[in-house]
Amino acid sequence: MPLPLLFALFLAFGLESAGPFAPLPNAELGRRVTATFGLVTLVSLASMGLGFWVSARVARSGHASQALRRGYSRCARILEILILVSFSAIIHQWEWPRVVRTALGRGSVTVVEEALILLPFVLMQLVSWWGLYPAEKKLRAGFGVTRTTGRGRYVMLRARQTLGLVLPVLVVFSLGQDLVSRQWPALAASAWALPFEVCLMGLLVLVLSPVFIRLAWPTRPLPHGPLRERLEHQAQRLGFRCSDILIWDTGQSVVNACVTGSLPRFRYVLLTDALIDCLNDHEIAAVFGHEIGHIAHRHLLYFGFFFLGSLGVLALLGEAIDPPLLALSNVLGGQSHPILATIIQAVMVLLTAGLYFLVVFGHVSRRFERQADVFGCRAVSCDRAECPPHHDLDRQPGRGSSATGLCPVGIRIFANALTNVATLNGMEFQTRSWRHGSIARRIAFLEGLEGKPEAVIRFQSGVSRLRAVVALVLVLAVLIALATGSVEHLR
Ligand SMILES: [Zn+2]
Ligand SMILES: [Zn+2]
Repeated sequence: MPLPLLFALFLAFGLESAGPFAPLPNAELGRRVTATFGLVTLVSLASMGLGFWVSARVARSGHASQALRRGYSRCARILEILILVSFSAIIHQWEWPRVVRTALGRGSVTVVEEALILLPFVLMQLVSWWGLYPAEKKLRAGFGVTRTTGRGRYVMLRARQTLGLVLPVLVVFSLGQDLVSRQWPALAASAWALPFEVCLMGLLVLVLSPVFIRLAWPTRPLPHGPLRERLEHQAQRLGFRCSDILIWDTGQSVVNACVTGSLPRFRYVLLTDALIDCLNDHEIAAVFGHEIGHIAHRHLLYFGFFFLGSLGVLALLGEAIDPPLLALSNVLGGQSHPILATIIQAVMVLLTAGLYFLVVFGHVSRRFERQADVFGCRAVSCDRAECPPHHDLDRQPGRGSSATGLCPVGIRIFANALTNVATLNGMEFQTRSWRHGSIARRIAFLEGLEGKPEAVIRFQSGVSRLRAVVALVLVLAVLIALATGSVEHLR
């Protein structure tokens, strides 16, 4: 999920003040539009400066040092934050939504209005990618990537990657809301509206996400050859079905894989172009096995259920933080400043929800990644008790035997794949990722399982226990929220 886009959406639509709409005078309208585009220009100048500076440094010294790479990624992140701060100023200081509504007049379609409200952010992102392109090109060149993309194509690729997946969902959501509030105003006003909409959205996303992905990301089927044969053989051996294995063209900029869709008819496994070019077939098979693991253990379905059940938890949390929130807001003078009260409430709600997801979802997600890692090791392990010598189960098509345990070589192949993916993506080994945990710890965990089938069984039953307990708590939370009427807090 592209985090900056989510923040931008929250800035644009999360903090809307519900006051009556007053159109702006024409002169003021022009001034605010000019100021907004001035900011967009500033962002593009800053990113062009950074892109030019980094590419010039690389050109002068003939290579990209580690320090330069680190400095660049830090600056790029600061630029991302600057874009969000600018967008926040545009939305709240210059009341951009009011500008848009004044310009469009009454009775406009919500989707158009929302698209225009988001436009400054999208523009700033586009110009920043455009500006950073020379630096990205020079830094990628160091990784032995031969094929480079042109500037326009690079911007298109980034846009499709970050916006392509989220925006179609939002358009469907916003059109749906429009339809519901026009056709069934009573339903739109009821306490059930939000849970109902989220359920519907979840279903839609589950069914449509493969379609969106194919629209959003440039993909093509993996051509026939030894690699495809190996992966198909492995899939069949492990009882995994999907509608296709796709190469995801990222202009050699991403080394990654993913699986999408819970139903086999609408399920794709995506392997990026750089992953296929830089890893050997065994390592690709290990990554492929990791993705199969997510499906075999039904992680996607569980996450769907998790988000739905979390509505109950959030409703109860909302009920619980209401009284202290009111007290805090009064202490800070919220009674005389309604905007301040709104901001305090928004920040607190965001913090509570954020903390809940960070702790609970983060923990479940890291366990699931480990489970998929174990599955990936198993997918490339052999059935020999005395490995090495290792026996490649997917070399000759047609042999259907399947390993049930982990072998030392299988673990090594998977660890190498993980190491290569991390190095090629420029990740630090010790850095902990919220959803995946650090690479070093993932590898250490897998190496700890070598020759210990009982440790694997212990780990698997631990994950099953976690799943059951979290599910039970979520179901209880939903039931309590419905029974006590706390569900009203979701509105
Ligand atoms: Zn994974
Ligand atoms: Zn082996």
